Amino acid sequence: ESYIAKVEELAKIKLKQEEDKATVRLHSFEFTKAEKIKSLKSSSVSTKVRAASTSSNLPLHFPETVLCCEVYHNRKTWLKTQEFLVLGRQFLTEVRDKIYCLTDEIMKKAGQHDPSGYFLIEDVFCNDMREASATDYSKPILDWLKDSKNEALEKWEIIVSGELQQKQKALLGGETKQSLPSLKSLHMQTTRFCDVRFRLGAGYLYCHQGDCKHVIVIRDMRLIHPEDIQSRDAYPLITYQAKFLHKKCSVCKIYKAEKMTVDDKWAPSNPCYFCEVCYYMLHYADGSLLYNDFDVYDYHHG
Ligand SMILES: [Zn+2]
Ligand SMILES: [Zn+2]
Repeated sequence: ESYIAKVEELAKIKLKQEEDKATVRLHSFEFTKAEKIKSLKSSSVSTKVRAASTSSNLPLHFPETVLCCEVYHNRKTWLKTQEFLVLGRQFLTEVRDKIYCLTDEIMKKAGQHDPSGYFLIEDVFCNDMREASATDYSKPILDWLKDSKNEALEKWEIIVSGELQQKQKALLGGETKQSLPSLKSLHMQTTRFCDVRFRLGAGYLYCHQGDCKHVIVIRDMRLIHPEDIQSRDAYPLITYQAKFLHKKCSVCKIYKAEKMTVDDKWAPSNPCYFCEVCYYMLHYADGSLLYNDFDVYDYHHG
């Protein structure tokens, strides 16, 4: 009897082993399948995209913080144009490079693009000095503060206390001396979000192309969650983009613009925006280019 029980037990173990083997095989099969799809994908994309995705293996550090960062329109200051999720360990320049502003495009076209720019966060100017031709926009401001202390203080007091309080002060004769904030500057490209002191919800400044200014707000901060995208390269992740930033094709007015042409004699406008379909319909016949006395650019949406 005990012999039969032993055989049955052995048979059970054997069965379990077979099951385990099968699942292992199944997993490895799925693994190779996934790998195959991946390698297929990477071989079919353009070199530029591939170069970007090879660095995507950068692991996330734990614990990592995620900040929600908002950018507002330069003239319609109440209008939010973009929203990003950015990692605490990312450099400020990584967000700067994702900010879309028409002024940049206009200056590029005019051949007067200036790579300079800064974020003013609390009392720190973070200047983008990556390009050799970049200038420190904060320097004349800091110099002025140093050289014209009295004038600066007077202005600062008005800004801080407001007109009403100025009147009250005149009435009551109370003299509470304000002091200027001690503004400083550093380099944007070596400063990470976790290096700067900020308050959630406070309005900070992004300035570029001389005097194109945008309000930026760090709206929220939290730890990264398993449901967040776990690849560092996906960040700053655009989570909101104002509809008007998606330029439409000037011909069909339906599809998103993919190409932009300049000095294009048959185009309805200059510059002119095209979707892929309309661009080929206007410029190609039987696979060959009809004319080439124009410039064409890929049009990227932010
Ligand atoms: Zn701008
Ligand atoms: Zn079109």
